[in-house]
Amino acid sequence: MTAYLGLGTNLGEDKTGILHQAIDHIGEQAGRVLACSSFMESEPWGFSSDNRFLNAVVAIDTALSPHELLETTQSIERLMGRTHKTVDGNYTDRNIDIDILLYGDCVIATAELTIPHAHLLQRRFVYIPLLEIAPDVIYPTNGIPLSELVR
Ligand code: ADP
Ligand code: MG
Repeated sequence: MTAYLGLGTNLGEDKTGILHQAIDHIGEQAGRVLACSSFMESEPWGFSSDNRFLNAVVAIDTALSPHELLETTQSIERLMGRTHKTVDGNYTDRNIDIDILLYGDCVIATAELTIPHAHLLQRRFVYIPLLEIAPDVIYPTNGIPLSELVR
């Protein structure tokens, strides 16, 4: 199945290196990397911080189920030093965040996993790199091309 993952980091001296490391882990543990977007700088979303983010989207060919893929991406986040996702329930600086944006044409809404990712249509730093590598991708919830939904 083709899945799209959104990556973000806002900590460390070498954000480009952290994204490359994450992409290597994804290729080894989640599935073959089919495409990778440009790396895009963005402001923190949902919290304030002096540290800007570097974001990217990758397409993978994965044999994992959506929940297995979530477990794998969370284990990569832990491996790369993201030990807690929030402080006091708020967004916070993080070494690496890996989100499942799309998984084939699956629509999933459970407590642990929402696909398409809940904020895909609101976050420019997600849909711009996603459209760069998948210009014709369809938003599975309504069958409309993503490019039409966000323009
Ligand atoms: P955000 O990605 O919005 O910045 P977090 O990464 O801190 O927030 O949130 C992670 C939580 O979101 C995980 O515990 C996971 O269970 C849940 N989640 C729900 N849907 C997804 C998804 N599509 N991809 C990644 N995590 C998801
Ligand atoms: Mg996340």
